Amino acid sequence: MSLPTIWVFGDQLNREIGALATATPTTHQILMIESSAKISSRRWHVQRAHFIVASMRKFANELRDAGFQVDYRHAPSMSEGLRDHVAEFRPDEVLVTEPNSYASRMLVNKLNVRVVRSDQFLCHPSEYQAFLGSRKSIKMEDFYRWQRKRLVVLMNGDEPVGDRWNFDEENRQPPPKTGHDRWPQPHTYALDETDQAVVETVRGNCWGEFPIGQWATTRQGALERLAFFVEHVLPVFGEHEDAMLKSNWHLAHSLLSPYLNNGLLLPGEVVEAAESAFREGKVPLNSAEGFIRQIIGWREYIWNCYWQWMPDYAEMNALGATRELPPMFTDISKTKMACMTSVLTGVNSRAYSHHIERLMVLGNFALISGINPQQLTQWMWNSYVDAAEWVMVPNIIGMSQYADGGMLATKPYASGGAYIDRMSDHCKGCAYDRKKRTGSDACPFTVLYWDFFLRHQDRFVKNPRVARQVRAAQQLQDSDELQVTAVSILRKLDNGEL
Ligand code: FAD
Ligand code: SF4
Repeated sequence: MSLPTIWVFGDQLNREIGALATATPTTHQILMIESSAKISSRRWHVQRAHFIVASMRKFANELRDAGFQVDYRHAPSMSEGLRDHVAEFRPDEVLVTEPNSYASRMLVNKLNVRVVRSDQFLCHPSEYQAFLGSRKSIKMEDFYRWQRKRLVVLMNGDEPVGDRWNFDEENRQPPPKTGHDRWPQPHTYALDETDQAVVETVRGNCWGEFPIGQWATTRQGALERLAFFVEHVLPVFGEHEDAMLKSNWHLAHSLLSPYLNNGLLLPGEVVEAAESAFREGKVPLNSAEGFIRQIIGWREYIWNCYWQWMPDYAEMNALGATRELPPMFTDISKTKMACMTSVLTGVNSRAYSHHIERLMVLGNFALISGINPQQLTQWMWNSYVDAAEWVMVPNIIGMSQYADGGMLATKPYASGGAYIDRMSDHCKGCAYDRKKRTGSDACPFTVLYWDFFLRHQDRFVKNPRVARQVRAAQQLQDSDELQVTAVSILRKLDNGEL
C-alpha cells in the first residue's frame, strides 16, 4: 500500500479545489489520465484538442515541480487508466473531486473511488436547492440577485451598488461607426516543446487552423490574460457587449471561458479582480456589473440548470427540428451569407466566437432553419476551445434552440436580418439584401425569421413575449410568396448553395 491517490480530471486543473486543496506531496500522489478513446472520439478542432491536452500535461509538470509524485497515464480509456494505476501503485484509496460532466459522474460512481465535493463553482447544486425553495417561476435575474447578496458582490449593505441591479440598456449599443481599433489586442503566447508534442499527438483526427498561441495553456498564462483584461479591456466591457464586427473578433470580450472551464482560473478570483478594479475607480459600474453578471449570474445559472435537468434535457427537441447540419458548418465555401461566413471563418481560425455570434448568428440561424439541436450541440462541442457539456447543453438546447419548450428561456431567440444589420457591419456588401423577404436575393435570416413564426404560430401566439411577432407574421401581405422563398432557401441550404 502507498499514499492515497487524487485522480485529477482534465477540467479540474487547480490546486485550490476539491481533493487537491488540502493535498501535499507527503500526503497524496496524483493520477491524471490522457485517454486515447476520448481524443479519438470526435473530430475535434485542433486548437481545442491542443488546449485541453497541453494544459493537462503542463499542470502535471507543475505538480511534479511542487514535489508531487504524478502518474500521468496514456490509456485506452479512463477506467483502464485507473485500473492500471491501482495495479501498479496500490494506493490506500483513490479520491476524485466531483467531475463536471454527467457521464463522468456516472463513471466514478461505478468505480472504487471516494468522491469529494467540488467547490470549482460558486454555487454548488445543493446550494441551488436553497434558491429554488418553493419558487414557481425560475428566472436568471432572480438567481443573479440572490448570488450577489449571498456572495456579497457589488453590494452596499442590502442594496446593490449604484442602486441598480441591471445596466443592460446601457450595455446593448450597436457597434460604433468609427474607432474600431479601440479594443486592445489580446497577447499570444509562445508555443513550447510540450505544445509541439501535443499537436503531433492530436492532429491526425482534427480540423481547423493550427494553434498560434492564441490560448495560453498554463495558470500563469491564464492569470496574465485576466490581468490584461481587467486593466485594459474591462473598462469598456459594457457598452458594446452585444455588437459584432467582421474586422474585430474579440471586441471587449474577456476570452476567459477556456480557463474558467478547465480550472486554470476560478470564478471567485475573476469576480474579485473585476470588483476591486471597480472599487478602485478604474472601471465604470456598467462594465463591472455587466461582466460580473456573466460570471456569477449566467455561468452559475447554466451550471445548475444542467445538474437540475440532466440527463433527459440533452435529448429534448420541443420544436421537432430535424434538419441535418448543413454543409456550410463544415465547409465555409458552401455559403455566400456574409454574417455566417465571418463567424464560421472565426471558428476555423480560433475555435472561438463571442456570445452574440453564437446566440444571434449561428444559434439563431439553426433555430429558424430547423436544424436538429443535438447535431448543433455535437458540432459546437467539437469546435469550441471552451466547450464542455454542462455549458453547451443548456445554452444550445435551452437558450438558443428553445428545444426545451421554454424551461430556460422565456422566448425563442429568433431574429431577422434587421437585428444583424443593426448590431454588426455584416450586411453591407453581402450577396443578400437584408430588407428583402422574397426573391432570389432575399436575406435568409429575414425570410426564415418570418417563416419560423408562421410554422410555429400555434405555439408562440400564446407566448406574450413574442405574440406580437406572430401576429405581424400572420398579417404579411406576401406570406405565400415568402413561404415559397423559404422552401427554396432551405433547399439551397441543404445542397450547400446558399
Ligand atoms: P465574455 O463575454 O467575456 O463573458 C465573460 C464570461 O461569462 C465567459 O467567459 C463565461 O464564463 C461567462 N458566460 C457568459 N455568458 C455565459 C453563458 N450564457 N453561459 C455560461 N457562461 C457564460 N460558453 C462556454 O464556456 N462554452 C461553450 O461551449 C459555450 N457554448 C455556447 C453556445 C451557445 C449557442 C451560446 C448561446 C453560448 C455558449 N456559451 C458557451 C456561453 C458564452 O457564449 C461563452 O461563455 C462566451 O462567449 C465565452 O467568451 P468570453 O470568455 O470572451 O466571454
Ligand atoms: Fe446575414 Fe442577411 Fe445581413 Fe447577409 S443580408 S449579412 S445573410 S443578415
